[in-house]
Amino acid sequence: MKRIRTLRARFALWLTLLILAFLAALGGFVHFTLSRSLYGALDDALVLSAKQVYASLREDDGSLLMPLAAANAPDLIEFDAFIQRGQTLIILSQTGEVLQAVGPFRREPFPVPLSPLQSKLQTRASQGKGEPIRVYDLPINENGQTVGWVQTMQSLVSVEDALERLRTALLIGSGLLSLLAGVAGYFLAGRALAPIDKITNTARRISTAELSARLNLPDTGDEVSRLAATFDEMLARIETGFDRERQFTADASHELRTPLTAMKTILEMVRTSERSPAEYRGALDDLAEETDRLHALVQELLQLARGEGGWELQREEIDLTLLLVDVADSLRPVMQNKGIDLRCDLPPSLIISGDTDQLIRLFVNLLDNALNYTEKGIISLSAQQTEGYARIDIADTGIGIPSEHLPHIFERFYRVESARSARGTGLGLSIARQIVQAHGGRLTAQSEVGQGTTFSVYLPQ
Ligand code: ADP
Repeated sequence: MKRIRTLRARFALWLTLLILAFLAALGGFVHFTLSRSLYGALDDALVLSAKQVYASLREDDGSLLMPLAAANAPDLIEFDAFIQRGQTLIILSQTGEVLQAVGPFRREPFPVPLSPLQSKLQTRASQGKGEPIRVYDLPINENGQTVGWVQTMQSLVSVEDALERLRTALLIGSGLLSLLAGVAGYFLAGRALAPIDKITNTARRISTAELSARLNLPDTGDEVSRLAATFDEMLARIETGFDRERQFTADASHELRTPLTAMKTILEMVRTSERSPAEYRGALDDLAEETDRLHALVQELLQLARGEGGWELQREEIDLTLLLVDVADSLRPVMQNKGIDLRCDLPPSLIISGDTDQLIRLFVNLLDNALNYTEKGIISLSAQQTEGYARIDIADTGIGIPSEHLPHIFERFYRVESARSARGTGLGLSIARQIVQAHGGRLTAQSEVGQGTTFSVYLPQ
């Protein structure tokens, strides 16, 4: 059999089979109960008739015969009633010879049982048409001996007909009902599953070039609507991610082009004509500077790209005070050259768990920025412990960041217009934030134009 592929058809099939099984069980139960009660009622009537006949024997004349002769005796009416119900009454002698018989099967006495003294109910087939007949044999016992038999019998045809009609009705009814349930199930499942088809079609339409497709199904609160909403949210996230990547690639190539263009220009200039050694040296210096810039940019791009995939931090117990002192010491000479005073206010020890290399990169980036955007004054580096966090502040007295730019400075390649003149790639703070987040901490900035900027790093301990 070909496999049924659609969920809808499978659901309808299961529903049909389930209803069919249920109706079959119900029908079986009804049939069983009814047949038991019909057969039981027929048996009871046969036993009752036999007992009544038995009671009427020998009342008048001591013979084994039913008092049929007294035509107007009231108890005869009962025999008539039995006969009208289709019962046959037969009196048999001890040897099974018919003494008296009334009713439709009066010419068909059945052999009496071999074991006398005991009554017996059984089903026999009539001699002519083989019609099933229920027969009750009641022995007439006297002084511990069987002297004759009362045999009552009735055809089972009417009971079997009734049961046959019931079976037909059940069969047709169950078939029709299951079919109806199957068709209804097919349509209902179709309705319920229609949104899934929509999801499939939308998913098919989606490509990296076309990520704006949405399902926008009405919110009915059911499972499918929740699935659709989740699908839309996922699409939105993917779209944002793709947009970011696209933007990043565009920005990166733009940034890479700048030093490359500068290098190309320098090279073309020196190659156009013969230059003096001093000019060549100058050109080489310029080239070296651009190469440094390119190198730094590529390094930062690599660092960022690695961070995007989630960091593999080499965590260890670190005394942050020692680390900060080292970083400060390495930068102090450059700061002093520029006439800037670096002040440290650090606790004797501040232990955290973190990645030494990444943390050094983080603080060098922040201190480097403070140095780049400060003309004169002080840069202060302070640390303290606050509620399970180590908080490190890097404050400068530099140019500051206008409030409209402040929310964007952590974005990749974002640079404040006024800072364009300073060397930089616009990636430093993105990397800094990535490192802090990888450590489970956060990085904030406060700034006032002309007054200075403070970056606060919170690292969990
Ligand atoms: P950049 O390489 O340009 O410094 P960053 O990502 O480190 O890139 O910083 C982004 C921008 O934030 C900088 O271009 C600058 O405008 C601003 N900025 C960062 N640090 C400071 C600071 N200490 N003082 C003033 N402006 C800052």
